[in-house]
Amino acid sequence: MMSETQKKVKVHVEKVNKSYGENHVLRDISLDIAENEVVVMIGPSGSGKSTFLRMLNQLETPDNGTIVVDGFDISEKATDINKVRENIGMVFQNFNLFNNYTVLENIMLAPVELGKLDKVAAEKKARELLKTVDLVDKADVSVSSLSGGQKQRIAIARALAMEPDVMLFDEPTSALDPEMVGDVLEVMKNLAESGMTMIIVTHEMGFAKQVADRVVFFEAGKIQESGVPEQIFNAPKNERLQEFLSKVM
Ligand code: ADP
Ligand code: MG
Repeated sequence: MMSETQKKVKVHVEKVNKSYGENHVLRDISLDIAENEVVVMIGPSGSGKSTFLRMLNQLETPDNGTIVVDGFDISEKATDINKVRENIGMVFQNFNLFNNYTVLENIMLAPVELGKLDKVAAEKKARELLKTVDLVDKADVSVSSLSGGQKQRIAIARALAMEPDVMLFDEPTSALDPEMVGDVLEVMKNLAESGMTMIIVTHEMGFAKQVADRVVFFEAGKIQESGVPEQIFNAPKNERLQEFLSKVM
């Protein structure tokens, strides 16, 4: 039953397919993500998780189906995809920062270039975000001098500088030394608690248990099972999910 307390749908995906040549990578994927919801996507390598995330901000185009983000149908030719993209922050495994720029310059770049903030406002915003990611003292250093964990926290701050409505994370801790992982997950956990709508691909099952509202299991281009963490981790129904968990837990 519809109720007034029912959350707004932020991301609506319906019957999306994607192939690379003969390789049918996403098979009839349908998924709705509500405002403030934290969805964690798990699954084996090659199951289509990255392709799915990349489709949400049009780094990939689906072959068919519907994708609506923030009310904008991104499969419609008339939709200004750059505007939609500005509302979606993405954090990648390998940071994608400008290594020869300072930390502050990296965070300020997009809002200034895209005319969202003037330089003064962008710098103020960037310094606030450095507090959020606990790296205030790194404002003026070159990104190249940072550790992987610090780079990833800067990448998160940079994405947040555009004040996105949705944040996508593609294995944000997979390239990090183990001792750096906790700091990055802590920033993501705080972001989740602040109410950000988040879609996160990760192999960090402890984090998924703790932070996810819903866990989605991808395998062979399909959503094989989804549910609250307790269901997925303690009472998985799908055989492939059971097998996957037996390997990673
Ligand atoms: P995951 O993130 O779950 O590891 P991906 O979405 O990266 O999976 O990949 C799913 C499948 O699509 C894999 O078989 C991969 O080789 C293939 N694939 C991904 N990107 C491309 C591309 N740009 N061109 C061709 N094949 C691709
Ligand atoms: Mg991937």
